[in-house]
Amino acid sequence: MSLLKVARMGHPVLRTRARAIDRGELRHASMQKLIDDMIDTMHEYHGVGLAAPQIHEPLRIFIAAIAPENEDPLSPDDDPMVFVNPVITPAGPEIVEDWEGCLSIPDIRGRVPRARAIRVTAMDRAGGKIDIVSHDFPARVIQHETDHLDGVLFLDRMRTFETLSYLEEYARYWSKDRGD
Ligand SMILES: [Zn+2]
Repeated sequence: MSLLKVARMGHPVLRTRARAIDRGELRHASMQKLIDDMIDTMHEYHGVGLAAPQIHEPLRIFIAAIAPENEDPLSPDDDPMVFVNPVITPAGPEIVEDWEGCLSIPDIRGRVPRARAIRVTAMDRAGGKIDIVSHDFPARVIQHETDHLDGVLFLDRMRTFETLSYLEEYARYWSKDRGD
């Protein structure tokens, strides 16, 4: 396994619509290695999610350190979930705004409105079916990562840029807003 270079905002791969992967391609050793390398890379940079375009591969695949039924992120020792060809639909009308960051936009935070509940269908890394309803934090991560597959960054989703903050200023002026 190896660490992959993370594309930063400005690289065209982050603005490209990624292509779907079929089951046969997913089974291929090179694709499974790519997923393992994405997991290592996400852990190295302390991310909660990582989409393939972020490591310069325009494929419809992302990983997320979430348990979809649970609001808390997984501990780093747990295997992240792998979503291939995800399709998300809102599961209710409620929109909630909360802080997001992105490994491709380092040291920046901003408040982003997202659907509170979503249904997501996808394949897992073995080609099995994922069909879940997710709420709150995991739903936010899934929406952020699925956006990456369509060339969309969280900045594009912000209502205004008033909360856009460097990490240091976020910690100083905003983080108590969240109850951390
Ligand atoms: Zn991101």
